[in-house]
Amino acid sequence: MTAFSDYGLAEPILRAVSEMGYREPTPIQAEAIPVVMQGRDVMGAAQTGTGKTAGFALPILQRLMPMANTSASPARHPVRALVLAPTRELADQIYVNFREYAKHTGLRAAVVYGGVDIAPQYLALRKGCEVLIATPGRLLDHLGQKTVNLSQAEILVLDEADRMLDMGFLPDIQRILSVLPVKRQNLMFSATFANEIRKLAGTFLNDPVTIEVAARNATADNVEQSVYKVASVEAKRAAVAQLIRDRDLAQVLVFSNTKIGAGRLARQLELDGLNAAAIHGDKSQQERLATLEAFKKGETRVLVATDVAARGLDIVELPAVINYDLPYAAEDYIHRIGRTGRAGASGVALSVMSPVDERLLVEIEKLLRRKLPVESLDVVLPARREPPGRVDRPPRVARERHAPRRVASVLPTGAGQSSDPFFSRPYEPAGAAPAQGEDAQSDAKTTGALESRTVPPRQPKRQLAALLGGKKF
Ligand code: AMP
Repeated sequence: MTAFSDYGLAEPILRAVSEMGYREPTPIQAEAIPVVMQGRDVMGAAQTGTGKTAGFALPILQRLMPMANTSASPARHPVRALVLAPTRELADQIYVNFREYAKHTGLRAAVVYGGVDIAPQYLALRKGCEVLIATPGRLLDHLGQKTVNLSQAEILVLDEADRMLDMGFLPDIQRILSVLPVKRQNLMFSATFANEIRKLAGTFLNDPVTIEVAARNATADNVEQSVYKVASVEAKRAAVAQLIRDRDLAQVLVFSNTKIGAGRLARQLELDGLNAAAIHGDKSQQERLATLEAFKKGETRVLVATDVAARGLDIVELPAVINYDLPYAAEDYIHRIGRTGRAGASGVALSVMSPVDERLLVEIEKLLRRKLPVESLDVVLPARREPPGRVDRPPRVARERHAPRRVASVLPTGAGQSSDPFFSRPYEPAGAAPAQGEDAQSDAKTTGALESRTVPPRQPKRQLAALLGGKKF
């Protein structure tokens, strides 16, 4: 059995690895570390959760060790390795790992990504860093403002390359490649190797060593996969709640194909008594990080995410993933279920499917080259209760034009909460108009407290009082 000490990694790196609790290299690390240390280009096919970050980070730090110094001068800390990642979460995750692995070396890491104030990034870049982790768009902003200099970058890593292409980053990547020194080491990692990825590899990798630790386009063996067929689209939300309860899932990451769907599902699960939150691209970076943190700490049981937001989420020992929607792109199925069963742990990947989604399953099975077990799931749909007849909902157009008013200042917390049919709304059919006052912007986690509820705009006070059981105010 190989040990980290067999690779000739410097003592400060080995010390950090041991402090991380890593006892032996994972298969991708065993293959990648020696090859990257030799300075070879690499095309790595590795699923998430295989330890690929350390697979490239440790040998990169080793190669940079001769340049490590404790000087305070930024000129002594030029960018020597650039890591490009498709999403902020993944960039942040890689940065956190690099910082840990480098903490005894004197080498510095920094991260830049969009969606947050750029000013603190100027400061970090001005101080100097040997390893820079970046999302392509924000890096181009810095290059445009000349706040970063890549003229001494001798190593480039393209992580989650397939996702970069999916997200349309190819032109940005090409622009970044054009400002890097021609002579450099290139590493490209991708969970899947579609033809476009091979084409991209052909354009910038130089005689690469191919490292493939899992069979191409195969899903982790240690993940139990099941598909549950429900009678209608409307039944899917109830099915998710039922599966979480029936299987007693301690924590679960649920995938939705749309941001609005993610927000709505999280709210609905909350109403159903499950502690849930949503994470997607319409949320601010701060909100996303806080939501992720709460989930990692176990404070949130269900995290509903879109594919983009879920990239780079490294949640150790996530027991289960549920596809509320089957993904439109079959390859996303592999990315999604790679979130569970990480680093050798076993996991559960469940999918709910309505009749209209069956063609998506066909695509997934084609990609996996095998059938997935499908069983029917009877869900109990709570009867849809309408608001009292006297309350006419304003027409949809009116709701869109007027921002919903919050009632926080006039309602005592808890008043009318449980008995009020308007506030304790049952499952909304998917595709129906959003519940009153809910829209893509108000995806913030529903707290369950009355303060967070909204009422339709221009609700006459009398009607509102009726809703609250005759309470006058
Ligand atoms: P990654 O695939 O790089 O996102 O890593 C997935 C998880 O595995 C992270 O939480 C790492 O900290 C962890 N990990 C990486 N390498 C090892 C190792 N050799 N032993 C144990 N855990 C590891």
